[in-house]
Amino acid sequence: MDKKNITKHYSNGEITVVWQSGKCIHSANCVKNLPQVFNTKESPWVNVANASSEEIIATVNKCPSGALSIIKKE
Ligand code: SF4
Repeated sequence: MDKKNITKHYSNGEITVVWQSGKCIHSANCVKNLPQVFNTKESPWVNVANASSEEIIATVNKCPSGALSIIKKE
């Protein structure tokens, strides 16, 4: 298995942010748009508790590579 291609899930109970490292082109759009959630200096680097689900969805939709996606709770 390629260790560089990992998938991480970050849930706030309402939505789950999915990040696929292998697709990320490190454009940093997410970090610029919503730095309180997407902060590469933190571990984990995605903190879904720090913004509303709407704000997170809007930022995920701007990810140019498809590395970020959202799973909504039914
Ligand atoms: S916006 Fe998407 S491609 Fe850019 S750094 Fe964030 S996850 Fe990676």
